[in-house]
Amino acid sequence: EITADQLTQDTLKGIKELEPKLNAMITVVDDAKPAQNLDLSNELAGIPIAIKDNIITNGIKTTAASHILYNYMPVYDATVISKLKDAQMTIVGKANMDEFAMGSSSENSYYGAPKNPWDLTRVTGGSSGGSAAAVASGEVVAALGSDTGGSVRQPAAFNGIFGIKPTYGRVSRWGLIAFASSLDQIGVMTKRAADSAKILNVIAGADEHDSTVSEKEVPDFTAAIGKDVKGLHVAVPEEYFGEGVEPAVKDLINEQIKVLEDNGAIINKVQLPHTKYVVPDYYIIASSEASSNLQRYDGIRYGYRAKDAKNLLDVYVKSRSEAFGDEVKRRIMLGTFALSAGSYDRFFRQAAKVRTLICEDFDKIFAENDVIVGPTTPTPAFKIDSSIKDPLKMYANDILTISANMAGIPAASVPAGLVDGMPVGFQIMAKRFDESSIFQVADFIERQN
Ligand code: GLN
Repeated sequence: EITADQLTQDTLKGIKELEPKLNAMITVVDDAKPAQNLDLSNELAGIPIAIKDNIITNGIKTTAASHILYNYMPVYDATVISKLKDAQMTIVGKANMDEFAMGSSSENSYYGAPKNPWDLTRVTGGSSGGSAAAVASGEVVAALGSDTGGSVRQPAAFNGIFGIKPTYGRVSRWGLIAFASSLDQIGVMTKRAADSAKILNVIAGADEHDSTVSEKEVPDFTAAIGKDVKGLHVAVPEEYFGEGVEPAVKDLINEQIKVLEDNGAIINKVQLPHTKYVVPDYYIIASSEASSNLQRYDGIRYGYRAKDAKNLLDVYVKSRSEAFGDEVKRRIMLGTFALSAGSYDRFFRQAAKVRTLICEDFDKIFAENDVIVGPTTPTPAFKIDSSIKDPLKMYANDILTISANMAGIPAASVPAGLVDGMPVGFQIMAKRFDESSIFQVADFIERQN
């Protein structure tokens, strides 16, 4: 028996103890208080949660891990935050991340990289690395992240927790600081799939502020918990077991597939032939959208403004030059180039066509299968500093997660075991708006392990 006040205090104390070594938070909400008049029939009432720092929180500083938003104090809540507050959850911290969610290791944070609680010399993954480390270390039991090309699933895999990116259009993006608007989706991270199901129940659903959210009825995702997998059609794409994937990772994933098969699932070998194009395709589309979305950081409206600017153009150039990090600048330049009059047809338009082909690969498989499974990442968490100076190496990491964003389908990562003491993630993808099948398979796997 514990009061919500006590739970909040204990959580804040735990965060304070762990933060010096983890750096999972950009802001700790020291004066966090549980909601008044808790409705104890609601299991989430009074439960503390961490929020990735690119999700806007009224009165709590929100930086997207960028110096350009170092002093940004929002005056409204993102839709997901209003919904968590309606469910009486308590926001205790804003989690560390790659600047504007651009990266795969959280090393692009202005506030320094968070550390993987399994091995402090390794990355948490990214971009929702702080959210993942906070859950894995027990600082909090739940966190929100965002996933544009894998940023919920890859850090979930690297930290041995569950993380789900819902269908594009399942959860409102209103108040999510935009990176690539056709790919971004807010997701949930917890140790067990069942807890994410409860939180997704709360944050999903139509929103008058975001026309891309579906009006479709949101099912009760917890209804998928506790089921078996008999008769489920499970597709295994050949391309997800290619040469870049570490053999020990493949072995662990194959063991999980065997477990599904032994329990009555029907396993089908399939192909996703356009997988080899997803990384370059994604980096053109995501960077193009980012270059447009990030125009708003002009040194005028909010955030950082260079001190010694001589005229208006100088305000823009100096503020952006001084306050954006290298990776963000790289994407803005790449995106601006891909969208420019001379390049649009050769780059952006081509990339959009390839995206359609990637989507069609999935439609074919889902015509005959319920889920697609494979590894979440080619390797377990790598060492801090080992990839950050080589962008192409960092980008290659995303090969198994990006496609789900391109196709708008839901996808999750569930722990599959350890390689050399580091966790590996088992990825589960499903048809648009069928998060339930993902919860069913993830929960089943958790119960077998
Ligand atoms: N790692 C990918 C990138 O750098 C994906 C990031 C994300 O999902 N936000 O763009």
